[in-house]
Amino acid sequence: MAANGRLDGTVALVTGASSGIGAATARALAAEGATVVAAARRKDRLDELVASIGEDGGTAVAAEVDVTDGDQAAALVDQAAGQHGRLDIVINNAGVMLLGPIEDAPLDEWERMVDLNVKGLLYVARAALPHLLRAAAEPEPRGVADLVNISSVAGRIARLGSGVYNLTKHGVGAFSESLRQEVTERHVRVALVEPGAVATELATHVREEVRAGMAKRFSGVEIMQPEDIADAITYVVTRPRRMAVNEVLIRPTEQQG
Ligand code: NDP
Repeated sequence: MAANGRLDGTVALVTGASSGIGAATARALAAEGATVVAAARRKDRLDELVASIGEDGGTAVAAEVDVTDGDQAAALVDQAAGQHGRLDIVINNAGVMLLGPIEDAPLDEWERMVDLNVKGLLYVARAALPHLLRAAAEPEPRGVADLVNISSVAGRIARLGSGVYNLTKHGVGAFSESLRQEVTERHVRVALVEPGAVATELATHVREEVRAGMAKRFSGVEIMQPEDIADAITYVVTRPRRMAVNEVLIRPTEQQG
């Protein structure tokens, strides 16, 4: 952990912290001195992460939550702020990608994506706003607060076989820009991070028959690691108060579309 972390004195909430980008981001923010609330459904995974952050000299706590439940999402945010006295940074990262053709798609896949990628993200953002506005209004430690919404290249470009995932991530982009305009003069920075392919558990939830096509699309492409995205998120939330990174699109170098 950095002796003088750039996030000393801050409290950060990371959703979807039990694996992939969220876990790497929780580590990265803790290494910068933030007290991290690591949230997801799999408590055992969160406990391992929290222990490992502690061994590295950082501070993190685990929060077991299903953010698709509006009450649980609100309680998560209020407890995080209540227990630690403030909330400076929220990484709205929990998401699911269930690709496949629109025709005859299992309805429950669409519901899972809308419930988590859209509604879960909204619940967390709504509950977090008063806390972020309060943190931003205080001169110390930073006089600014951050909400980072994780979208995707799929939030920029619609592709065959990705319709409802595209819908959810395009929605995240539109919501983020509108909210940015609403709160930026009060020093809450709303950022959108749009990764291309990253080696995480995300693709493991896709139906077997769809997965084969995905593997073909990325064959020969060196895909990114969760730490690459965590690094970009850390950059976003450690800028000086005067500067807001609004949007970051990050692809593996070899990814064309
Ligand atoms: P992972 O599947 O590794 O992580 C998803 C996280 O979301 C897990 O921690 C999971 O934990 C959590 N989660 C799932 N459902 C819920 C729920 N109901 N409540 C709370 N947490 C939940 O994938 P990634 O790290 O790749 O995904 C993170 C984000 O990055 C997503 O929004 C994804 O769309 C986006 N993204 C990923 C890309 C990639 O190529 N990997 C590319 C572009 C964007 P648990 O199951 O324990 O609840």
